[in-house]
Amino acid sequence: MIYSPKLSLKMMRHIFINRLKRNYKFPYVLMLEPLFKCNLSCSGCGKIREYKDILDKQLSLEECMDAARQAQAPVVSITGGEPLLHPQINEIINSLLEKKYFVYLCTNGLLLKDFLDDIAPSNELSIVVHIDGLFENHDSLSGNKNVFSRAMEAINKAVSLNFKVRTNTTIYKNSDAREILNLFTFLMKTGVQSIMVSPAFSYEHVENELFMDKMSIYKIFKEIYNNLNGTKVYNTPLYWEFLTGKRNLQCTPWANPAFNPKGWKSPCYLITDSHYPTYAELLQNTDWEKYVAGKDKRCENCMMHSGFEASSIMSLRIKDLAKILKWSFTGKVK
Ligand code: SF4
Repeated sequence: MIYSPKLSLKMMRHIFINRLKRNYKFPYVLMLEPLFKCNLSCSGCGKIREYKDILDKQLSLEECMDAARQAQAPVVSITGGEPLLHPQINEIINSLLEKKYFVYLCTNGLLLKDFLDDIAPSNELSIVVHIDGLFENHDSLSGNKNVFSRAMEAINKAVSLNFKVRTNTTIYKNSDAREILNLFTFLMKTGVQSIMVSPAFSYEHVENELFMDKMSIYKIFKEIYNNLNGTKVYNTPLYWEFLTGKRNLQCTPWANPAFNPKGWKSPCYLITDSHYPTYAELLQNTDWEKYVAGKDKRCENCMMHSGFEASSIMSLRIKDLAKILKWSFTGKVK
């Protein structure tokens, strides 16, 4: 199954309980950013640029656990920066697992091979390696040599040690659909469980020649979608319908709240108007409707999974059940 039955049940229970309490704004996934320091300088990354003044700051283990406790999301996605540069990353992961959170460790893979000697595989831990293209193209986007081969060495080791490994691919304006499809075939052969995709977000702090408008996003995602063949995909088929222009979704920025050394980021993982000291203050003080209605210029071409994957689940109707069931069991979105 594409999600473990345990996670599916936990997520369904979480949604059901919140609905029962008439709570419609609740987190699905906590985006935990324990530090912004990174060992790469990828051309499309807004984080290392937006937070360049606090690259030496990091969250403590206690702050990470307190953020998870405040959000109460079933899944904690550890991002950054490069999380494996955090000196307490093992303790953070193990403490979250002990508290029964599902953990997604997002990494560029450079330090992963050695890190695998220090941590045990778990059904609740997924390692998500960021790969944006094959060989030279991934290296070029990452701004360094041998990034692709080092990430693949780590993926091979993780698979051989029975870790759950997924990959995350960002699609840019200059991405080639054929190459992306070849990348997915290549990744499937290495034994990764599934791939995730998202169109690049046009960060204010990054030159925008890398980013697409919605029409271009529909075009490239249609080409990828039509040729996915045996690729197992972690994004829901409903999110794919959104990416290919077949489904309209409104963003749910509260579903993936982000916590980092500056606090709780408002309104979302991607854009910043302010930071709040507590999750309750983030919820209370953010003008959510402004973003849901797409009234902010920065949201114009945003189709990122952090804003819309939860929306796709909320848009589920009876007529969608067959495709959701098929995807849950096979990972196929078409
Ligand atoms: S559409 Fe939503 S997720 Fe995207 S930038 Fe706007 S508020 Fe953030």
